Amino acid sequence: MDFNFTEDQNLLRRTISEFAARELAPHYQERDKDEDLPREVVRHLGELGLLAPMVDPAYGGQALDFVALGIAFEEFGRHDFNAAYVLLLSALVGAIISSRGDERQKREYLPAICSGEVVPALGVTEPSGGSDAAHVKLTARRDGDSYILDGEKSSISFASWADTILLMARTGTIEQGARGVSAFYVDLKSPGVSRARFRDLGTKAIGRGQLFFDSVRVPTGARVGDEGMGFIQVMQGFDFSRSLIGLMCVGAAQQSVDETCKYVADRQAFGGSLARFEGVSFPLAEAAVQLRAARLLCYEALWKKDRGEPHGWLAAGCKWWAPELAAKVLHQCLLLHGHLGFSMDLPHQQRMRDVIGLEIGDGTAQIMKLLVARELIGQVARGY
Ligand SMILES: Cc1cc2nc3c(=O)[nH]c(=O)nc-3n(C[C@H](O)[C@H](O)[C@H](O)COP(=O)(O)OP(=O)(O)OC[C@H]3O[C@@H](n4cnc5c(N)ncnc54)[C@H](O)[C@@H]3O)c2cc1C
Repeated sequence: MDFNFTEDQNLLRRTISEFAARELAPHYQERDKDEDLPREVVRHLGELGLLAPMVDPAYGGQALDFVALGIAFEEFGRHDFNAAYVLLLSALVGAIISSRGDERQKREYLPAICSGEVVPALGVTEPSGGSDAAHVKLTARRDGDSYILDGEKSSISFASWADTILLMARTGTIEQGARGVSAFYVDLKSPGVSRARFRDLGTKAIGRGQLFFDSVRVPTGARVGDEGMGFIQVMQGFDFSRSLIGLMCVGAAQQSVDETCKYVADRQAFGGSLARFEGVSFPLAEAAVQLRAARLLCYEALWKKDRGEPHGWLAAGCKWWAPELAAKVLHQCLLLHGHLGFSMDLPHQQRMRDVIGLEIGDGTAQIMKLLVARELIGQVARGY
């Protein structure tokens, strides 16, 4: 057993950490106020080769392994949760097109995602539900060499400014369930697309919102994978985002723990450092140990993914546990800063608000626990 990262992975961590601390962290709080993530940031991430970096170099990627990708997510989570979202959506959409797209789609779509020229969104959730993801209602009706899209996607990260979306649409009947759903890669500048932005608690720069499709015509060549196989073929196997989200959240919480350790050591009360009191030091000791355990779970899942080994329930465990733990730890860090922690000037409240979003996004704790239970117990634990 070896818990060490490779030399290349350590170098990657140092490089990303220095970049993110220098270029991103100083603007993290301003982006929350402005509710804006400048395009230059996305292009810069592309220049650094951080967008969908596991894509084949022939299509603009770096063929990076998943453990290394996890390192990038952990470091971005520490310094700028919003920028980490760009990494997340690019990685997910890039991975799906890489493995399920045809040669033309890979050549046409991937280089622009990897360079940051295009910000992609992923559209599964609809107003009628997100957990019951296979019951998509947005329709794609075949019309000659096109499909006509009608319906709505809701709660979509980057909805207010993404350039493209990989979305799930119903090409079959409702009764067909997941087998009647197909995936399409759609240009969001197409006639008939409109947008609305949500007012969110956190990750305000992301511009989560609704996308409306009113008789939007897309060529048949925009369908990724076979018709009716959107869930079965296209979405399955893309659960690595769960471990990456875990590391984003662990990174954000660890940054606050590091800052809080320093704060309570320096802060003087009752004739000495606040850190003398176990009521102050124990919550930080507990947080450090629990975050370490969650972090290891995330890296174990990614390490297994790199080796092609099954890791589904581990990834679901990361997605349930790490955001929940991170939100609790961040709350504790906020409290250990006393009245200062309650001010918008310190970043702990923002990190906590940002992390809470990912207790829901990409699947809630209940759905993740169902996935774990199903692997442990079998289909009898199906839950619906
Ligand atoms: C910050 C953020 C970003 C997001 N980004 C995207 C995105 O980019 N693309 C996208 O498609 N979606 C996105 N989503 C949507 C997200 O995936 C859904 O919100 C999520 O899957 C839950 O769906 P829902 O909100 O419809 O809740 P529902 O499915 O209505 O669930 C409501 C509650 O009931 C619980 N519940 C539901 N079914 C069961 C069950 N069988 N057993 C036990 N409990 C159950 C849920 O856990 C939840 O607590 C995002 C959400 C957030 C908050």
